[in-house]
Amino acid sequence: MTGSRYDILFEPVTIGPVTAPNRFYAVPHATGHGWTQPAGAIALRGMKAEGGWGTVAVQITEIAPDSDMANHPMERIWDDSDGLRHAAQVEAIKCHGSLAAIEIAHGGMRARNFTTGVPVKGPASLPVLRPEIPLQARAMDGADIRAFRAAHRAAAQRAREAGYDILYVYAAHDLSILSHFLSVRTNQRSDAYGGSLDNRLRLLREVLEDTLDVAAGDRAVALRFSVAEPSKPGGLRHDGEGRDVVEALAELPDLWDVNLSGWPEDSATARFAEEGFQLPFTDFVKSVTSRPVVGVGRFTSPDLMVDLVRKRRLDFIGAARPSIADPFLPSKIRNGRIEDIRECIGCNVCVSMDSYGVPIRCTQNPTISEEWRQDWHPEAPPVSVGRRSHLVIGAGPAGLECAVTLMRAGHKVTVADSATEAGGRTTREARLPGLASWARVRDFRLQQLLRSSDADLFLQSPMSSEDVLAFGADTVTLATGAKWRRDGVGSTRFDAVDFGETAVLTPDDVMDGRHQDGIPSKYVVYDDDHFYMASVVAEAIHASGHEVVYVTPLPEIATWTGTTLDQPRIIERLTALGIPLVPNVTLGANCRFTRTLDGERVTFGAFALALVGARSPRDSLHAELAGPDRPKELYRAGDCLAPGIIQTAVLSGHSTARRILDSGKRPGIPRREQVDVKRSGDPAVRRLPTAS
Ligand code: ADP
Ligand code: SF4
Repeated sequence: MTGSRYDILFEPVTIGPVTAPNRFYAVPHATGHGWTQPAGAIALRGMKAEGGWGTVAVQITEIAPDSDMANHPMERIWDDSDGLRHAAQVEAIKCHGSLAAIEIAHGGMRARNFTTGVPVKGPASLPVLRPEIPLQARAMDGADIRAFRAAHRAAAQRAREAGYDILYVYAAHDLSILSHFLSVRTNQRSDAYGGSLDNRLRLLREVLEDTLDVAAGDRAVALRFSVAEPSKPGGLRHDGEGRDVVEALAELPDLWDVNLSGWPEDSATARFAEEGFQLPFTDFVKSVTSRPVVGVGRFTSPDLMVDLVRKRRLDFIGAARPSIADPFLPSKIRNGRIEDIRECIGCNVCVSMDSYGVPIRCTQNPTISEEWRQDWHPEAPPVSVGRRSHLVIGAGPAGLECAVTLMRAGHKVTVADSATEAGGRTTREARLPGLASWARVRDFRLQQLLRSSDADLFLQSPMSSEDVLAFGADTVTLATGAKWRRDGVGSTRFDAVDFGETAVLTPDDVMDGRHQDGIPSKYVVYDDDHFYMASVVAEAIHASGHEVVYVTPLPEIATWTGTTLDQPRIIERLTALGIPLVPNVTLGANCRFTRTLDGERVTFGAFALALVGARSPRDSLHAELAGPDRPKELYRAGDCLAPGIIQTAVLSGHSTARRILDSGKRPGIPRREQVDVKRSGDPAVRRLPTAS
């Protein structure tokens, strides 16, 4: 569609010797696949190219065995044997007309070399940059620096041969040896590579020049640089040394890819950062260099994108998470299908999966990481023969996703929900402090359904087993959700507890506003769930004027938010509100609290309890329908089957719809990336010498 106000986003842009077909730039990001799962990674990136991202970049690619970052699943380009994989990657990206970029990297003091067993290297002899890992880096001498430069150059050469259009030099996120040489915190050298900014910048400049040399005027060289480290004491500032670096190297790279460091700053969750949150730090770069600039900030609004380009704040709209949530975001804008964009909700479930070293999942996009494994496509509906009628009970994330998937496959769907609003938990949770973006999960699916003549939605329609049977649909899917328990069962305690006279509220009560009843008093929020819920419940109760104490049996506050990167901000926020944080304390019968370390009793005076523990599936309807008159095809999806996070509910709804469309067949084992080792006669299978 031309002649639209978004045309500017589809202008080609020159990056040194290459030209990007448009301004949509899928920046390097963790996929959780890495070099051990290349087919999945290639399909994931190929999908973005198909969806219209004019440039698609490959994540951190280790250059040599001493840059081994396992257990994090990174890419590798250690020697020529890695080349084939990269050539296939390039092909998958370029066959759609996109540019292929590769982030060549050495993790320096963030490498661990667990699998390679060689010492970690860095500018100084200091502990590695993960305080919980008891290793130190070896200070690099002149020979080490020369070896590193040679390895980087060789990796760039291999990337060039694989066909990449853009070769990255990576100095960002505190995850690169070049950042470690740049930073006064880690560079304690007194030679030509330490001391003054010029000296600390020397290695970065040399590596840039080496890479430009390899690029030889027909590949572009990008510099990925974190201009500011807002949360690090003594870290780079965008109006200090961060800017000095950009000024010093301004015209050297063909492209500046700029962001914030570390990763928690760069991938801030929606709870703590709005769309465009990086711009105040990064938008000065355009005024310093004539080279094109790509920046990120969870951009999903086409109007903001246009504004950024028109006001010359960025040349490229960079995206990691928005390109995960919707690989087809550019093509939807191009085709005027703005309302079809699956907007990232900024929950960082994708990040948490990478933290566990497994392929990423996404709350909004259930097909991510399934492109190769199960041939799932985010836009093409599953193929099904015939047209049937389906009843879905529950319009939460599982029910809506199930219904939309059935509807897009050309089937007739009716959704019934007892609530006055659709969205289930997403609607209810979106009213809690900081979680407004959760509503996007509902909104995207709801407007797809409401637009279709094949879908009906009935609210305020509690369904009984008689109603279900009378409806007479070909298939029935129960997506009736779960409710929070008030009996003390949680992640660390599986038996119910008697709380005596103490008033107990659950998150459901708080979402219903019951904490606002009565005069302000003290609440103990007990977190035996360990994700975000207890912290937002604490905020909500505090906002209604109550005194709040946060207590958890685990040693950490909101433990799982460590994997979504917002744990430090949660701690900061609760502390700023004056909410005491009490870890290592267990709740028992009669509301007695015990310190787990020494068994001592802990008291909080008079209080009401806000209990955030486990949830009970709402499965009574399923039990009623399990009799002989049961519908011929009865399914369950989401929290009513196994309570989890919103992402698991969406995935469950999606998988259930695919199963329904496949006539109820249980899915087989998906494809796996396996090394083919023969039992004998394969030189790869070596026997140990037998002792004589
Ligand atoms: P999930 O996360 O699995 O999608 P939710 O709790 O978000 O689950 O949504 C479940 C929805 O199901 C809620 O909106 C609830 O009102 C609805 N629901 C539960 N039981 C019934 C029922 N018997 N009839 C109609 N709607 C129901
Ligand atoms: Fe966005 Fe959440 Fe999906 Fe990550 S998992 S891309 S943060 S919606």
